[in-house]
Amino acid sequence: MSTLHHTMRQERQPPQNHVPEVAPGVLRIQLPMNMPGLGHVNCYVIEDRNGVALIDPGTPDLRSWKVLKARLDEVGLPMKRVHTVVVTHSHPDHYGAAQRIREVSGAELVTHENFKTYWDPHEEDDFIREVAVPQDYDAQMGAIEQALLKVTRRERHSPWDRPLPWGGAPPDGQLKERLRWRIKPLLLTKLWQPPKPSKRVVDGEVLLLGDKEWVSVHTPGHTADHLCLLEPTEGIFVSGDHLLPTITPHISGLTTQKRPLGDFLLSLERMYTFDDVKVVLPAHGLEFHDLAGRSKEIIEHHGMRLETLTNAAVHAPENELTVPDYSRHLFKPHAWGTMADSETFAHLEHLRQLGKATARAVDGELRYRIHHH
Ligand SMILES: [Zn+2]
Ligand SMILES: [Zn+2]
Repeated sequence: MSTLHHTMRQERQPPQNHVPEVAPGVLRIQLPMNMPGLGHVNCYVIEDRNGVALIDPGTPDLRSWKVLKARLDEVGLPMKRVHTVVVTHSHPDHYGAAQRIREVSGAELVTHENFKTYWDPHEEDDFIREVAVPQDYDAQMGAIEQALLKVTRRERHSPWDRPLPWGGAPPDGQLKERLRWRIKPLLLTKLWQPPKPSKRVVDGEVLLLGDKEWVSVHTPGHTADHLCLLEPTEGIFVSGDHLLPTITPHISGLTTQKRPLGDFLLSLERMYTFDDVKVVLPAHGLEFHDLAGRSKEIIEHHGMRLETLTNAAVHAPENELTVPDYSRHLFKPHAWGTMADSETFAHLEHLRQLGKATARAVDGELRYRIHHH
């Protein structure tokens, strides 16, 4: 049992019960969550003379809410003193409790300006891609758009019933489970309120938290609205899911971002410019110190995946493969499925956008050919 615990990745560990100071003036509360690969989410707590700021206050679950309240009470910072909630991005483990806190304390709710969730009726649906469609798969994309137009607004909010942009078999249980988890707050409607940001920021804005100036850093990739925070004097960087200590965030091909992987790689390269950072505070797992080093590792990880894809179709007929075929080269069998295909699709589209691959539709399914030079 303890060996298992020992080898368990830090992001998967159950929440710690203590509230350490992880950077000057920043406390960490670990809140419970249970998703494949994730055992807790970090809520960062920053006190100043006006009260308290929280970054990512956890899931919409009542259990998490109770832990958050108890931990805040333990350190003498009651919920009603919270003046600001910052949410790093539009995943429910990060924003789940945000609106409820706002109702208790009147806190400002800060997100990136792109912030949106599934149940926001005026927002474009996350799963309808706007793709810069090349001529050779116009027909494929046209058919998908037609199919999407036919379904009702309500159905469009059940993303698992939609065709996949790369064609082939419908989404499998793994993606459905993930999406269901993301939509779970709807099932808790009595307690749960969708987040309504009161302040939307863009890159480079200054927030006053803990009597210090924190700079907002827009880091699209994992989501279009991902926001990190930089405190330059102490060298503190709050990284959300953009950088995690031992796992890489899921990069989805099923997104309104036109270039999810390209954006992510640029957001990682940008980390090299913050060379005064001393401590990185991720949303899952423990603090770490080498911002540039960890960024480089993740860039290299995706570089290796692109390399694997480039070599995968060498022996295939016409050097072409479908998205699920490529996916089997990138992922181990236990990971095969729509989630893996979605990430593979993001990588293939990245190569296509760089002019290194072409795609065409055959029998309703995309086939990609990658050029070797
Ligand atoms: Zn996330
Ligand atoms: Zn997360």
